[in-house]
Amino acid sequence: MVFLQVKDLNVSIDGKKILNGLNLEIDKNEVHAIMGVNGSGKSTFANVLLGHPKYSITSGEILVKGKSILELSTDERAKQGIFLGFQYPIEISGVGYSHFLRNAYNTLNKSLTEDQNDREVFLTVKEFHEYVKKNLNYVGLDQSFLGRYLNEGFSGGEKKRSEVMQMLVLRPNIAILDEPDSGLDIDAVKAVAEAINKLISTGAGVVVITHYARILRYLTKLDKVHVMAKGKIIKSGGKQLSEELETKGYEWLGLEEE
Ligand code: ADP
Ligand code: MG
Repeated sequence: MVFLQVKDLNVSIDGKKILNGLNLEIDKNEVHAIMGVNGSGKSTFANVLLGHPKYSITSGEILVKGKSILELSTDERAKQGIFLGFQYPIEISGVGYSHFLRNAYNTLNKSLTEDQNDREVFLTVKEFHEYVKKNLNYVGLDQSFLGRYLNEGFSGGEKKRSEVMQMLVLRPNIAILDEPDSGLDIDAVKAVAEAINKLISTGAGVVVITHYARILRYLTKLDKVHVMAKGKIIKSGGKQLSEELETKGYEWLGLEEE
């Protein structure tokens, strides 16, 4: 059974309709990209998957392993192994970075072991520290970040590296990454892509929301590229679709940049 199924999803906020019958299926071991003009509903879709309370789902379904998750809270959805990397990560003063990671890791591990059976169930404080250090190195952040508050004072690039670092530590079944490459220099884009590749190698499914083909070129695997417009997927294709969009823009699809 496909891990995550989104069926005819209709979503509004303050009475304004944003998603209009969105359909998408993402399985483990699959890598999808979602592209589309600003305001087409990409972030709304990502937020709704994790149960953002501001949006109301007027009809449709979100199924994980065939079961509806619409009634589940955000933490319950995360415990099913769904991870969201934010377009705009929030600074949370007072929440220590390493404390946050360890709590999230321990909480998640209790519920995920049956899905990813090669995962370490319990790590001592020292082992966990080594594990996080390895992943920090991987995305090019140094150890001093562990002594800071979550995202506080991080540069734009550091925030994006930090999002995928958290993803590597938590090892989700499905990761949705909302513009993980926006505003990054070339080295940072490569580092973020390498982190995604590392997650792909664990057998996870990944959805990369992006405006640029560049990050997709670095991925070891890309199964499908979807174009979103006015709250639904209007076209799907392979990797070449992202290249076509990069050179031709959206006009050839009958869409104007907003
Ligand atoms: P994208 O990520 O594709 O750029 P968004 O999902 O962020 O698009 O936004 C889709 C539409 O929904 C936009 O018109 C945006 O203004 C609107 N929208 C999103 N969040 C809110 C909100 N909290 N309040 C009002 N409108 C919103
Ligand atoms: Mg967005």
